[in-house]
Amino acid sequence: MSTIRYLTQRQAIVDICVQLADTGYLAGTGGNVALRLDEQHFAVTPSAADYYTMTAAQIAVLRLDTLAQVDGELPPSVESALHATLLRARPDRPASVHTHQPVASAVALIGCALPLREAADRAELGPEVAIVPYGPSGTGLLVRALRKRLRPEIHAYLLRNHGLVCNAASLADAARLLGRIERAAAGWLLEQGRTRAPDHPLHAFADAALAPLTAST
Ligand SMILES: [Zn+2]
Repeated sequence: MSTIRYLTQRQAIVDICVQLADTGYLAGTGGNVALRLDEQHFAVTPSAADYYTMTAAQIAVLRLDTLAQVDGELPPSVESALHATLLRARPDRPASVHTHQPVASAVALIGCALPLREAADRAELGPEVAIVPYGPSGTGLLVRALRKRLRPEIHAYLLRNHGLVCNAASLADAARLLGRIERAAAGWLLEQGRTRAPDHPLHAFADAALAPLTAST
């Protein structure tokens, strides 16, 4: 019987992907998930993965320093270098998740940092979700833009016109923090609409769409 290296961790990635796909944070084949395995290696979802049919053996295992693939049946995500940048910078936060979750991605389209006002959000994520200037997916340009903006007290970054990347102490923690960010993004967008365009004809529509998302779950 063949054994799969790092089976527990790779299966944990599969499981969290299904959970995040169910919530709509990973939609279609968008987004990707990485987990540091030891000092030299990390695991990452395959490129263009279907989260509902993905298996642990398909999860790629890469060297953290060179991104050389050492295991996994499919090629790694095009955002592997983005994850490696976060994982190298924060060995104490071995989980890294990139999503196109809808409300935080709307803030990324506006191109502002997302301020975090709730004490619990600030305690876990820092004072804001910082904004990283636009770089096309899977490019060195995007990786360098993120690297330049890394700050030790900030654990989530909006990628301009694209989505979000968050790193955490575990995959479960990352999934929970993504929910907190989505809620904070909904609250911030509502507030912006109310203060900047209180008479806009779409205001009531935005209110109806966003207000339920600000409730704690
Ligand atoms: Zn993406």
